[in-house]
Amino acid sequence: MTWIALVGADRAFKSWKTTTAAFRWDILSKAADLIEARCAEIARTLTMENGKSLKEASGEIQFCADATRWYAEEAKRAYGRIIPAHAAGIRQLVTKEPVGPALGFAAWNFPAGNVTLKIAAALAAGCSIIVKPSDETPGTAVAIGRCFQDAGVPAGAVNIVFGPPAPISEHLIASPIPRKVSLTGSTPVGKLLQRLASETLKRCTMELGGHAPVIIFEDANIEKALDVLIASKFRNAGQVCTSPTRFYIHENIYERFVAGFVERSSKVVVGNGLDDGTQMGPLITERRLDLMDGYVKDAVDRGAKLALGGYRLNREGYFYAPTVLRDVPDDALIMHEEPFGPIAPMASFSSVDDVIARANSLPFGLAAYLFTTNLATSADVGEALEAGVVGVNHTSVHEAETPFGGVNESGYGAESGMEGLDAYLRTKMIAEKRA
Ligand code: NAD
Repeated sequence: MTWIALVGADRAFKSWKTTTAAFRWDILSKAADLIEARCAEIARTLTMENGKSLKEASGEIQFCADATRWYAEEAKRAYGRIIPAHAAGIRQLVTKEPVGPALGFAAWNFPAGNVTLKIAAALAAGCSIIVKPSDETPGTAVAIGRCFQDAGVPAGAVNIVFGPPAPISEHLIASPIPRKVSLTGSTPVGKLLQRLASETLKRCTMELGGHAPVIIFEDANIEKALDVLIASKFRNAGQVCTSPTRFYIHENIYERFVAGFVERSSKVVVGNGLDDGTQMGPLITERRLDLMDGYVKDAVDRGAKLALGGYRLNREGYFYAPTVLRDVPDDALIMHEEPFGPIAPMASFSSVDDVIARANSLPFGLAAYLFTTNLATSADVGEALEAGVVGVNHTSVHEAETPFGGVNESGYGAESGMEGLDAYLRTKMIAEKRA
């Protein structure tokens, strides 16, 4: 099946790349309208596959429509430039052209968003694309793909393939046809795909795992910080690459913050994502429950205290209780490994330099957050944090119009924003001399 996708993407690229930006704008705008019109239906599929609440799923679908519209507009702004020539009679033109057929590999945690960002950016730039969504969430990916198809994207320009990830990615990436690889997934898979891509020197965008530090300074507005962080921590049951995952709280407000967090976490409504009022659904697989148990046990064995939760819920499905661990030592596994679950590990700090060093101590660098009312602290710490995106007093760090991506072992390159389109463009210089 993958060779059909390769041949189709190759053939479609040859004509799609010649379309005007205005033409692509028209089709992408129609796709965005269809995504919006089908929001309720796609959100339901997403919730049934992934478990997140319908409210969260609907928000994700709206993001997909917004991002598709953003890329539709941005296609018109793939500007080149004219460089003043060094000799008379010469014009030096720099143009942007689509990089070629692209490959997109997507994770299940934002099964609509991850797929849409790749399809919309590739199409806007003039590329065709083959997407390999996660096998946990096929229906959502197909529903999104159908919106592009029904909007008039020609056959072969968008292809969706399923099956065992390793042989599929090996076969697709080894082919000389695709010229670009974009992965949203874990760091180990990112390293693997980058190695495969190096054989044919394909460009990569790597949107990989993170382990976001949250620093709560003494002067933070604690109530507002709690509002923001409770919503953010338990969103998608903590299975979010930018989820706040390491809480460092100033020692003078530690007790108050932890007590407030525990109190609010205990009120999070856990249940079937399709039910009204559900705030947090289940984890994606049983394996993740085992990992959560392991992180809690390891932290407690090393001296942390369990302040809330720490157990599976006794009901059908992979439900884990909202969990708060306090006094977690830096050497606990959960302070090093991306937990991808509803556990908030907390520790205190006393000095700014110390907390920055602890925040920057991991190889990851995706999101980082700080809460303060001091402008100087915000500026200094924001600059010092090793992260691709930093949130100050809030955690919304990914919008359609803003570049999103990590540094270090969280990857490189960006999706969204003007950088997101650029990832699918290459630069050509044309020197013209009058004959
Ligand atoms: P994953 O790396 O296991 O899978 C991601 C994609 O790669 C899927 O399509 C999967 O089928 C494919 N894949 C998996 N194993 C493969 C292999 N051996 N060879 C080739 N392809 C393979 O990640 P996941 O568990 O689906 O998602 C969770 C991870 O994704 C977390 O680490 C999370 O932080 C990360 N993530 C990052 C971002 C971001 O934008 N930085 C966004 C969402 C998720």
